[in-house]
Amino acid sequence: MPLVAVIPKPNAPVELREVPSPELEENSALFEVEFSEVCGTDVYLQQGRLEGVPYPLIPGHVSVGHLSKIRGRLFDVEGREFREGDRVTFLDVHRTCNACWYCLVAKASTRCPQRKVYGITYGLDDGLCGGWAEQIYLKPGTRIIRLDANAETFMVGGCALPTALHAVERGEIAIADTVLVLGSGPVGINAIILSLMRGALRVLCIGAPDQRLEVATQVGASAVFNFEEHDEGERLEWILDQTHGRGADVTIEATGAPDAVVQAMRFTRDAGRVVVVGQYTDHGPVSTDAAFNPHVDLNKKHLDVRGCWGSDFSHFYRGVQIVSHPVHSQLWTALKARLSRYTLAQASEALESVASGRVLKALIAPKFAT
Ligand SMILES: [Zn+2]
Ligand SMILES: [Zn+2]
Repeated sequence: MPLVAVIPKPNAPVELREVPSPELEENSALFEVEFSEVCGTDVYLQQGRLEGVPYPLIPGHVSVGHLSKIRGRLFDVEGREFREGDRVTFLDVHRTCNACWYCLVAKASTRCPQRKVYGITYGLDDGLCGGWAEQIYLKPGTRIIRLDANAETFMVGGCALPTALHAVERGEIAIADTVLVLGSGPVGINAIILSLMRGALRVLCIGAPDQRLEVATQVGASAVFNFEEHDEGERLEWILDQTHGRGADVTIEATGAPDAVVQAMRFTRDAGRVVVVGQYTDHGPVSTDAAFNPHVDLNKKHLDVRGCWGSDFSHFYRGVQIVSHPVHSQLWTALKARLSRYTLAQASEALESVASGRVLKALIAPKFAT
């Protein structure tokens, strides 16, 4: 029976359990987990801060492993059939319906009400549906992607890679733009790399702590600024100094702090663009200090402000292609030195490290279980 780590209910410690292996339905597979990730979302899952989560739950929504058992036939988007033993990852979003108003008319599949997410909105009652486990059951219709890249190179990006890819796409960065990234967590770091890849001339980053800003510099940020040591006025002055007094062409907010959304608007030039991707968890409204002024902060600035929710297959697929490329994967390869690995029994410890920002990326490696 595969061993799994479970969050039994909000604010309860992670528990180890043994769960029976599933009966495979037609066109499904069993996936042996090599690595699964621990991200900010998992911290909020443990704190009970996400809506619609069916506890008890096996967290871990982005994972790498291999197909140990296939029933029926499974194909990738290129039409190649999967074989047992193939190294793969899969889109954590399942059951996007391609039949509802959001899928077909708005063409915004990340807002499809039918979608379920492995490790977030699939609970233990749905089966082996999270990555903090020796095995995952890939239900029929799961979008599996062949992974030729090194497993850790892919996982150092983890869920932040498709998320940042989507944000950069929403930002429509033009060649030679100056991009400001607010936040130096995994999404911020991936957004820096991808902004440069998309043609930004310079990427500025405001974040904390210093060790994460070092990573921002390592991946190509041309200047960084620690928000813990400087108030909003000083940050604005710094941005204006860097941009001929105008502000950034495109700002990507990836902080998790509501006030940063208003600041993102103020740090962006008139007629620029702001992408909000750092509010996946509801952190409430902006504080009264931030006091958003529609005339000054938005209308008069002629700003384009865009939300960015989740990611779809295209973001996930493109992310896998980038980290599989011998040249373009190099920055992620270099970041592998900053990975922290934990066994299933150490899942609580992994959550604490992520919550405190001590580690850039924490991985659960079930096969290392003692
Ligand atoms: Zn995640
Ligand atoms: Zn739909």
